[in-house]
Amino acid sequence: MKNLLIVLSGPSGVGKGTVVKRLLGKGGYALSVSCTTRAPRPGEVDGKSYFFISREEFLEKIEKGGFLEYNRHFENYYGTPREYVESELEKRNVLLEIEVDGALQVKKAYPGAILIMLLPPSVEELRARLIGRGSESCEKIEERLSRMDYELSKKTLYDYTVVNDNLEECVEKVLNIIRREGKK
Ligand code: 5GP
Repeated sequence: MKNLLIVLSGPSGVGKGTVVKRLLGKGGYALSVSCTTRAPRPGEVDGKSYFFISREEFLEKIEKGGFLEYNRHFENYYGTPREYVESELEKRNVLLEIEVDGALQVKKAYPGAILIMLLPPSVEELRARLIGRGSESCEKIEERLSRMDYELSKKTLYDYTVVNDNLEECVEKVLNIIRREGKK
């Protein structure tokens, strides 16, 4: 079995985080912790959720070629640290949970990377959930909905799409993809 670089994406609210947690629980996977310039949300831990760094530090790391990919998303930068991913790949599978533009950059740099997009069972239901979430401004909600449409419009560029209808089944499908790809 070869070690794989597995990229999981999907619109906000589709349950990527839960699926990633399940995969990590199976053992044999390293999760890349991204760098971001956005502020930590309550409960987020530096070095675990993200490496929270300043814009200056981020730009410096770009200059030094320190990112495997990076993207500006909703006014903040997000990037995958190159060194960690490359050294972990020598030992085990590496998971990235990143948005579509970054995922497509990864595929260009590593054609062997496996891109998996998680899809909601119902786009309408997800849309309703995103509208109903929190007490955000119309502008923010609009922004998130158009981002959802954008992410979904890129699904044909992914190697696989998996509907997250039932969590167990979804995780099993993702694991089957990884097993199959690992044997190729
Ligand atoms: P959030 O701010 O909600 O944690 O993340 C916003 C989006 O950025 C999510 O779609 C998440 O998957 C994506 N993201 C997180 N880390 C990275 C990264 O390193 N690179 C890219 N391109 N996107 C990322």
